[in-house]
Amino acid sequence: MASSVDKQRENQREQKKCLRLLLFPLPFQGHLSPMLQLANVLYSRGFSITIIHTCFNSPNPSNNPHFTFHSIPDGLSKSESSRADNIVALVSLLNTNCADPFRDCLTKLLSDVSEEPVACLISDSTWKFTDAITESLQLPRFVLRTNNVSSFLALAALPLLQEKGYLPIQESQVEAPVLELPPLKVKDIPAFKTPDQETLYQTIAGLVKQTNSCSGTIWNSFEELEHEPLTVLRHDFPVPVFPLGPLHKYFPVPSSSLLAQDQSSILWLDKQAPKSVIYVSFGSVANIEGAEFLEIAWGLANSQQPFLWVVRPGSVNGSEWLEALPNEFLEEISGRGHIVKWAPQQEVLAHPATGGFWTHNGWNSTLESICEAVPMICHPCFGDQRVNARYVSDVWRIGVHLENRLDRMEIARAVRKLLVEAEGQEIRERAVHLQKMADQCIREGGSSFQSLENLISLILSAPLA
Ligand code: UDP
Repeated sequence: MASSVDKQRENQREQKKCLRLLLFPLPFQGHLSPMLQLANVLYSRGFSITIIHTCFNSPNPSNNPHFTFHSIPDGLSKSESSRADNIVALVSLLNTNCADPFRDCLTKLLSDVSEEPVACLISDSTWKFTDAITESLQLPRFVLRTNNVSSFLALAALPLLQEKGYLPIQESQVEAPVLELPPLKVKDIPAFKTPDQETLYQTIAGLVKQTNSCSGTIWNSFEELEHEPLTVLRHDFPVPVFPLGPLHKYFPVPSSSLLAQDQSSILWLDKQAPKSVIYVSFGSVANIEGAEFLEIAWGLANSQQPFLWVVRPGSVNGSEWLEALPNEFLEEISGRGHIVKWAPQQEVLAHPATGGFWTHNGWNSTLESICEAVPMICHPCFGDQRVNARYVSDVWRIGVHLENRLDRMEIARAVRKLLVEAEGQEIRERAVHLQKMADQCIREGGSSFQSLENLISLILSAPLA
């Protein structure tokens, strides 16, 4: 006999046969992947999908041939698009350049009667012009936040923290607690390296406004992981909230990697003992100094553990790739270390040989690690990563925090603590517990599963533009 959920689904499917959703990701790896994962989840529930994207960091349409792709001009010059050193300026420029092309594209799509009618736009929250444009076209708009809830609350609190004197951060205060945002310390406040703090504050104010004024916010997080921050969010923000994560675990989706993933990582891992390898990666944006690079290298060598290390070309200031590594180091680690430019990270984390992940705590990396029960070494670089790292080490207690200036001895100790010592085993047990929750919440009856049902019902109930 069909359950009431089945019947509800069947009804929804009938209604959705002729509905299209427009999705508009921000063109950075950490934003593009969750948006395309969400697109696949919604496609699997019967919607047609159109992706509107910039030419800069364009997704590869052939990875998702079941979607329609429309590119808009972003007006970036070659030199502007390589300004990864100032991500705040790049995001601001994209926002200035893309508003008109986006409006034109949307107007055209809405007037195209040969396609299914459009039910709504799902936009990345960092696009700050989509509220005004969708309002003028009377199109319902949902927002995807690709970071977690706790870091969003910290970002939204920046004006208050400034008013209360926490900002700009004073070196003497970094260990002090932020009383308004427990368990954060002053050094965890989401700060960004930019010479133009005013643009930063405007960008953050924009994303808070986008999040406050839409038909609903979608989160790549889950109720059991962020129950308290979600309670605060629901209280402070007057829009429906849909925690649907972990989006990459509903079913396998095609990779949306902007860089080629080096498959030798997996062949190398195949030769290593179970849970013996520390995987090291700082994501698609963060850069490190040359001196830090050498501390990392010698820390890994001194740990005596096997390691798989992603060194993104250009991510070490002043170097193209590995030329700063001394021969002595390469001889020392021969056979025990494998260095690649970019790895198939989800496969690496799911590999039986991976025992720990030294991460910058970008939200995707953190969530991917949680989903594979891989304990972390946290070394946040900027922004929301600091909040994520504090939650990993102090709230979920599934990682070791490298809080001070990078030091080879401290790195070696942290790696051994995670992979060899009893404390690492306790951390691993908590990680397994969290992994089970992540696994259950997207199954029928789970919190994210139910949230998805609620989102679909809301989309279907909205009048068409
Ligand atoms: N990633 C990858 N290969 C790598 C390093 C990272 O595929 O060698 C992926 C990773 O799986 C994650 C994304 O890149 O989905 C990075 O996103 P995150 O939010 O962790 O950090 P960001 O790059 O935005 O700082």
